[in-house]
Amino acid sequence: MNVDRSGIGMTSQRTRMRMVERLRQQGIKDEIVLSAMGEVPRHLFVDEALSHRAYEDISLPIGFGQTISQPLTVARMTELARANGELNSVLEIGTGCGYQCAVLARVCKLVHSVERLLLLTARARTNLRNAQVINVRLRHGDGHAGVPTSAPFDVILMTAAATHVPQPLLEQLRLGGRMILPLLKGSVQYLSVIQRTEKGYTEKKLDPVKFVPLLPGTG
Ligand code: SAH
Repeated sequence: MNVDRSGIGMTSQRTRMRMVERLRQQGIKDEIVLSAMGEVPRHLFVDEALSHRAYEDISLPIGFGQTISQPLTVARMTELARANGELNSVLEIGTGCGYQCAVLARVCKLVHSVERLLLLTARARTNLRNAQVINVRLRHGDGHAGVPTSAPFDVILMTAAATHVPQPLLEQLRLGGRMILPLLKGSVQYLSVIQRTEKGYTEKKLDPVKFVPLLPGTG
């Protein structure tokens, strides 16, 4: 298939650079993250009918009741992922349309990503191919189990909200590695960072966020 990677008008490089300027004003400082956000063609990850809105700071439907996160959230999570320096191996839980995965792939050697919905896994695979992203390994499965055969990971980034962190994921972090995820406390989700230390795990609660829930099993 012939895919328009460059985009025109509302999907052009200029529109994307305006998004990057907005991210800067919104407090994203890591230049490597900002250039990744400037390079990944976000319009290729949403339905064609919505592609003219791809660079607005909003989350958008990607089908199956799921959403692609707003650019600021993706940039913020990627900035947190890079906070301790170079990344070799990252695991994402909740591939969705593959956009966060594509941004991570720009700042990390290899990204593994797990999605519970088969049809979304297939869609993400197509989107990532169209965007010419090659350093990703997608899997259809329940993210609660992680990917033990590829562990340990520098960072595990979860893009669905959970009430608690699944134990297997904690065990798949390398020493010093961090998990970045929305954690539900009462009725509010907080972006949280959990770090594996020699003594156990530390947890830091950041700003309130809004993600779809982490669900059990596959579909
Ligand atoms: N990172 C995505 C956002 C996806 S929304 C993007 O950039 O588009 C969250 C995704 O998590 C949804 O696709 C949902 O199906 C998936 N999900 C929910 N529970 C899951 C689980 N247990 N394992 C894997 N994926 C899960």
